[in-house]
Amino acid sequence: MQILDGQFVSRLIKERLKMDAAALVSEGKKIPHLAAVLVGNNGASETYVTAKVKACAEIGFKSTMLRLDDSVSESKLLSIIEDLNGDMDVDGILVQLPLPKHISDERIILAIDPSKDVDGFHPVNVGKMVLGSPSFISATPHGIMLLIEHYKIKTAGKKAAVIGRSNIVGRPMSILLSTNTTPGNCTVTLCHSHTHNLKDICAESDIIIAALGKPEFLRADMVKEGAVIIDVGITRVPDATKKSGFALKGDVAFAEVSPKCSFITPVPGGVGPMTIAALMKNTFTALKRKY
Ligand code: NAD
Repeated sequence: MQILDGQFVSRLIKERLKMDAAALVSEGKKIPHLAAVLVGNNGASETYVTAKVKACAEIGFKSTMLRLDDSVSESKLLSIIEDLNGDMDVDGILVQLPLPKHISDERIILAIDPSKDVDGFHPVNVGKMVLGSPSFISATPHGIMLLIEHYKIKTAGKKAAVIGRSNIVGRPMSILLSTNTTPGNCTVTLCHSHTHNLKDICAESDIIIAALGKPEFLRADMVKEGAVIIDVGITRVPDATKKSGFALKGDVAFAEVSPKCSFITPVPGGVGPMTIAALMKNTFTALKRKY
């Protein structure tokens, strides 16, 4: 069994981006600039945005973090996005989801200029991804594909099960794995809360992407010998032994599943850091496309 070390691969990608950004500056060009919008004070969202801003600083990208009160109106948020769309210095825009209930995620995503949509959530980018055209691919699935690529995991002709069909993880993941690319060319089953025989589908799969947000859902008896397991789940569960008062749990029962696998991602240190690396890559691409 080999650990898919997202921390390590993410560091490699970020080091490369740091050099690429420095090269742009030495050519007299600008540095990549990510604008991150955080609405409200959801602890997890705050942690994710802070990590993204920190990653920008590490690799010499500029970042702007806009903190808005959770009482901000949808029209105010739309006007802030319009300003960011028009700001020539801003290359990438991300609005951390989920948003408060009185704001429509859909309307906000639609308002972002697709050429700055580094989260890859805008329908223009989703459509291009489906068609296999160059686009911004949603950071988590993009990061997972980069991880699979780094470890040269063979995917062509393999059976893959993706558990979870969200627009930001499961659905794009199922499309990317089925695309005629390397990695790709899998035969994919997209599973969700209405799927019958999930256990059998998983037990027949060579690759399983667990993205449902249910701690330790995937057990050893659902996994075949030699399978590749990618654990996307991050759930905060109370843990009195931690200073924060919680521990992060993945969707895979790591202790019992890992001995059966060929490759597996840990939580934390697997998909999470790759999501950030992919976001940085998308931000760099957004700037490169301007030139
Ligand atoms: P979501 O709640 O939007 O979607 C969950 C999906 O799982 C749904 O499609 C649902 O149908 C499916 N599902 C729920 N219960 C199921 C069951 N018993 N059997 C089969 N399918 C079931 O979640 P999401 O936004 O896709 O996130 C999933 C998990 O991934 C969460 O834990 C989230 O925190 C995590 N996540 C991690 C990263 C990262 O960078 N590591 C990024 C995004 C999300």
